[in-house]
Amino acid sequence: CGIIGIYAPGIENISQLAYFGLHALQHRGQESAGIAANKSGEIHYYKEMGLVQEVFSDKVIERLQGDIAIGHVRYSTTGESYVTNAQPLVVHHKGGAIALAHNGNLVNAGEIREKLEDDGVIFQTSIDSEVIANMIARNHKMEIEEAIKNTLKELRGSYALVITCKDKLIGVRDPQGLRPLCLGRIDGGYVLASESCAFHVIGAEFIRDVSHGEMIIIENNKIKSIKYDKDSKKSLCSFEFVYFARPDSTIDGQSVYVARRNAGKILAKEHPVDADLVIAVPDSGTVAAIGYAQASKIPFGEGLIKNRYVGRTFIQPDQRMRERSVKLKLNVLKENIKGKRLVMVDDSIVRGTTSKQIVDMLKQAGAKEVHVRVCSPPVKYSCYFGIDTPTRKNLVGAVYSVEEIREMIGADSLGYLSIEGLVKSINMEGCSLCTACFSGDYPIEVPKQGSNYLFE
Ligand code: 5GP
Ligand code: SF4
Ligand code: MG
Repeated sequence: CGIIGIYAPGIENISQLAYFGLHALQHRGQESAGIAANKSGEIHYYKEMGLVQEVFSDKVIERLQGDIAIGHVRYSTTGESYVTNAQPLVVHHKGGAIALAHNGNLVNAGEIREKLEDDGVIFQTSIDSEVIANMIARNHKMEIEEAIKNTLKELRGSYALVITCKDKLIGVRDPQGLRPLCLGRIDGGYVLASESCAFHVIGAEFIRDVSHGEMIIIENNKIKSIKYDKDSKKSLCSFEFVYFARPDSTIDGQSVYVARRNAGKILAKEHPVDADLVIAVPDSGTVAAIGYAQASKIPFGEGLIKNRYVGRTFIQPDQRMRERSVKLKLNVLKENIKGKRLVMVDDSIVRGTTSKQIVDMLKQAGAKEVHVRVCSPPVKYSCYFGIDTPTRKNLVGAVYSVEEIREMIGADSLGYLSIEGLVKSINMEGCSLCTACFSGDYPIEVPKQGSNYLFE
């Protein structure tokens, strides 16, 4: 998911800014979008299924007046894809209204929820974020910072949060910093967003990343920072660099673009091959393919043309839709690839659907050889932290060997980036990265069946 929070009492139409910011975060989720605007503690919101552009009209934006606004684009990992599960979540409790937007996934939401339900709490959605909202509401007697801090103590998992209530905008990043969150300055106020690419479009200036285990409170036009967890080791999601984030974002000091290009260069060293042309699976493989071409000295060219108006295939919740959408999305540029030995670079193989279809398409169009190079290691383990790879049986990398996968997708050769290569490409000194979907080495405890429920 993608989240944004804007605090700018001086600015006239704050929801419009949130709207533009959400556009820049659209790649992080396309199922639903929502904005909540807070005017002196009174919160109005609107959320609906669909893309940002489909969900909001001028009229709706006009109605959402306030001094603070938060927004969310959703990509479901827990809870079905229904509008009731869209965010921001707005709850009313004794202390007033609270709106919350969450990117991430709690691993102990089920347990907490059961406890709360035993106590008679009623839930309106099936998302884990509602657990957070409820726990904050139950602590209504405390100051909101305390209520949030108390809630965070109980949570395990990944969360970047933006919360607004009364005259405050609050941002939180989980103790491992699994999901990104950054802070910026805008005319007369501040912005929090999942990725720095959201700042550019609204004219905000990047200040810094929120640290792991840090809570930021913005009120009276001032920033206060609380390090609510001082002990946990940082473990930023490496997949943000592989696929999820936009290349023009910077996360924790590293440019996503540079990391991807580095990864492509390292991949070329790890898996060289004699070929005539390097092509990318656009857009997710493009930057890595450029890196591969630079390091291998094989020219880069366009072999696949992407229809810009089709969403991300992976994010389509069901498999048949996913297969159809590969063809909807990509077509071969025959003139460029006929008779050639190709290196086809993609960012990741998850289910294997995409690569198989593309190799088929390239061969049918006359490619002589197709050497698939993947700019991340085999995805072998489920992510419990907000990236949708829920069951291991669907991960080809968990079930088959590299050679078997090569055969399945019909490639002449197949090479994956190593875990060391990936970590090196991100080049984050002194900060460790989560690589659990590749290594099985989870930074925090995950549900029991976790690491090996191959055929559930
Ligand atoms: P698959 O192997 O599942 O058919 O598809 C892999 C492709 O899905 C890659 O090209 C990658 O860019 C894209 N993709 C889209 N969303 C995601 C995601 O959330 N995780 C992963 N791993 N890949 C994704
Ligand atoms: Fe990211 Fe993979 Fe870790 Fe999930 S398991 S947080 S996708 S690195
Ligand atoms: Mg892709």
